[in-house]
Amino acid sequence: MLTVTQALDQIVREVGAFAPEWVALSEALGLITAESVISQENSPPFDKSLMDGYAVLSSDISGGKRELAVVDEVTAGRTPSCDIVSGQATRIMTGAPTPPSADAVVPVEKTELSDGDSTRVRVLLDEVDAERNIIRLGTNKRVGEEILSSGRRLRAQELAALAELGAAKVSVRRKPLIAVLATGDELVTTDQTPGPGQIRNSNETMLCGQVSNAGGVPVPLGIARDNRDDLRRHIEEGLNADILLLSGGVSAGKLDLVPSELERAGVEQVFHKVRVKPGKPVWFGVLRRGSNSCLVFGLPGNPVSSMVCFELFVRTAIRRLTCQFPATPQSLTARLTHSHSHKDDRETYFPATVEWTVDGPTVRLMNWHGSSDLQSTVDADAMVVFPPDPKEYAVNDRVKVVLWDA
Ligand code: AMP
Ligand code: MG
Repeated sequence: MLTVTQALDQIVREVGAFAPEWVALSEALGLITAESVISQENSPPFDKSLMDGYAVLSSDISGGKRELAVVDEVTAGRTPSCDIVSGQATRIMTGAPTPPSADAVVPVEKTELSDGDSTRVRVLLDEVDAERNIIRLGTNKRVGEEILSSGRRLRAQELAALAELGAAKVSVRRKPLIAVLATGDELVTTDQTPGPGQIRNSNETMLCGQVSNAGGVPVPLGIARDNRDDLRRHIEEGLNADILLLSGGVSAGKLDLVPSELERAGVEQVFHKVRVKPGKPVWFGVLRRGSNSCLVFGLPGNPVSSMVCFELFVRTAIRRLTCQFPATPQSLTARLTHSHSHKDDRETYFPATVEWTVDGPTVRLMNWHGSSDLQSTVDADAMVVFPPDPKEYAVNDRVKVVLWDA
């Protein structure tokens, strides 16, 4: 049986990146940059006042000249009509270009008009530092500098930086379409009251949420029953997506028909079963059809198994498709707040919560009742990774932790 690392290696090997596409900034929120973006412009594009006040020569003020002749006025969006020389000032507003020789702006609060005469201003400071309240052309970004590297998720501020510098389109990897199909005769929709032996389909809600969080577009396909016809019909539909996630029907039960139906549909198995807890029955395969393959994950039906397998395996596939590095889950080290007896010979992903202390992160294990115990995940924000092989862990022992939604 594969280890988690071996299974992740196989996913990395199987999954290539989407081709880059150019999209308008208005379409780009949440997408991943496919190329680094180099600035073609300077920010700011001119020497600019950061205050409403008077543009001056700082040497005038420091040299004891307190009263200056106001020779010009510039508001934002205009340009100075003349430069200043010693003894002169330009009345200037925030965002307006400073006259070429000015090297400081005195805020209006630190000035007064001489005897109400708007052509003469008195500066109420003994000195003003050169460069005070001016931001020079290119201070924030120069032509030829990188605005963003490739593989970055575009948030509002990245889009704004591109907009400011005139990059109206950006080269990205699109979001993968991810079909979510629950399987099971026992399932009812979440708005129904379960009859005897029935439970609600909570996996659809969970997996669709995980898909969105990981940068995919969820396409819920509802419930397929545990018979070949219904399963076949739903699988056929799901294979139109970039990724098809099935939950349930992948272990050794009498009605676990998912692997055989996937193979019948032409999906080539890459692996089935991983030495992991929870999630051992997980299945992964690929429907190869030229450049637009469909990746298929058969996730175990138990909710925590589904959730953990998504975080480990599906998220890695999404990161590969969109070319994010590193693709595989990253961990940090934290100290256990309590002792723990680990008995399993599988690598175990244990719901936990990280607390940040002055001495570094600590991690508290949830009171976890196993793979059906969704409640344990509600208060958790991470999972502790216990290596295979039983071991007694003491308080303060260092363990590996994978954060959820990191
Ligand atoms: P299976 O993997 O089909 O054997 O299912 C394992 C367990 O997970 C069973 O107790 C199922 O009832 C439960 N289960 C399967 N699918 C779902 C689902 N969509 N939502 C919640 N629980 C499920
Ligand atoms: Mg089932």
